Amino acid sequence: SLEQHAPSQANVKSKGLDVLKIWTEEKPKRKPSAAFVVIGHVDHGKSTLMGRLLLDTGAVSQRDIDRYKKQATELGKASFALAWVMDTGSEERERGVTVDIAQFHFSTDHVDFTILDAPGHRDFIPNMIAGASMADLAVLVIDANHLESGIKGQTGEHIVLAKACGVSRIVVAVNKLDATNPPWSEAVLQDVVASITPLLTASGYKPENVRFVPCSGLNGQNVVKAMSKKGDASWVAEGYRTLLEELESCVAPHDTEEMVRAPLRMQIADVFRGSVTNPLSIAGRITSGHVQTGDTVLLQPSNERAMVRGIEVGGNGQEWAVAGQICTLHLTEVDQQHLRAGDCVCDAKNPTPAAKNFVVQLTALDSILPQAVDVHVGRLHAAGSITALISTIDDAGEVERKKPRVVKAGQKATARLVLDAGAALEAGTRLIIRANGSTIAVGEIIRAGG
Ligand code: GDP
Repeated sequence: SLEQHAPSQANVKSKGLDVLKIWTEEKPKRKPSAAFVVIGHVDHGKSTLMGRLLLDTGAVSQRDIDRYKKQATELGKASFALAWVMDTGSEERERGVTVDIAQFHFSTDHVDFTILDAPGHRDFIPNMIAGASMADLAVLVIDANHLESGIKGQTGEHIVLAKACGVSRIVVAVNKLDATNPPWSEAVLQDVVASITPLLTASGYKPENVRFVPCSGLNGQNVVKAMSKKGDASWVAEGYRTLLEELESCVAPHDTEEMVRAPLRMQIADVFRGSVTNPLSIAGRITSGHVQTGDTVLLQPSNERAMVRGIEVGGNGQEWAVAGQICTLHLTEVDQQHLRAGDCVCDAKNPTPAAKNFVVQLTALDSILPQAVDVHVGRLHAAGSITALISTIDDAGEVERKKPRVVKAGQKATARLVLDAGAALEAGTRLIIRANGSTIAVGEIIRAGG
């Protein structure tokens, strides 16, 4: 439990560990970890598939599922039993002040996985952006029987956003193949591959970073357990790996020495109220640097300090955490009002300054004019405006045309962005610009200030 991991107030002295040295020494024997975000159109089976992964890897017990099944059956929704794991199984959600991205952990012999689940239908996009900004890879779930609804619906936008958040590897789970006509139709799978591949390519996904997995989350076929080599679906066993095997094969190291050496930066994804011994906690992915118990960190843009009293990674207490890890920090000596989702936890001696004015480079997905916009940077959702279009640029970054009146879909441009409130955003930070509920541009910060 959390209390167990949180050291008492008295011994929260920094141990002065040489985290970089320990990290380097332990690296060869450390089991790799990976976090993935789950995306796809509503009802295509995301929650069911994740419930299945958790059940068949042993992270959730059959007893729990049976309990959900009973509840679900009473409500006349027996088929949702597996999906309920995602609704009710998260400890964070129960304690959360702002929890929008629930984490679920499961392990194989080779990899420790974290599922980043962005729930909710109406507010899915901001939550998805927040989840994707913490993810190493994405799992795109597509109902093979409703390809059209997915393509007309949110699938395309989800692909664009995942790439814009920096997720470069994607596993496409072609789901509900048990329910195609005839069941396990290879032709249906090929249709899905043919329709989705161009969307992935257009968003910048390289073919070697895309995998397709035919499966049925509901029945647990080709998710963790391989298909039988006999029968109508033998083509699956012969030609495809399971979803779990593809996930394992996608794992690449997400921490480099350069990242771990850099000053601490972690965006607050969620804030939790804790227990008496552990008043306030935050969760997020460390983008750079490292942190250890006893450290004093600076929160930006509020410019408030907090003391790190305990650290958890993958649900386990730790003395330190490094870049690339998703962790929970238990904090003291700070007021809850200074812990806001989207804010930045910084190295106290070398923080990111807060700013309102930025120069950004954008790729337009729709026409952009000087206009009011919603800016999404991971979990940060800020109001602002594009105040000037500086120039359109070509693929090599050379100026094509200065002061354009409008930037058209597909064009790249530099622009001035002004946020209504200050935010701690550095050059290189990825951002997504939306207006009236749709994404109009993706890009990154070139510099803070004029
Ligand atoms: P989500 O909205 O994407 O999370 O979708 P859910 O997981 O809630 O599933 C939506 C519906 O599809 C439920 O009725 C599920 O039982 C059903 N479903 C999910 N996966 C499968 C599958 O592999 N095969 C079939 N036949 N139905 C499925």
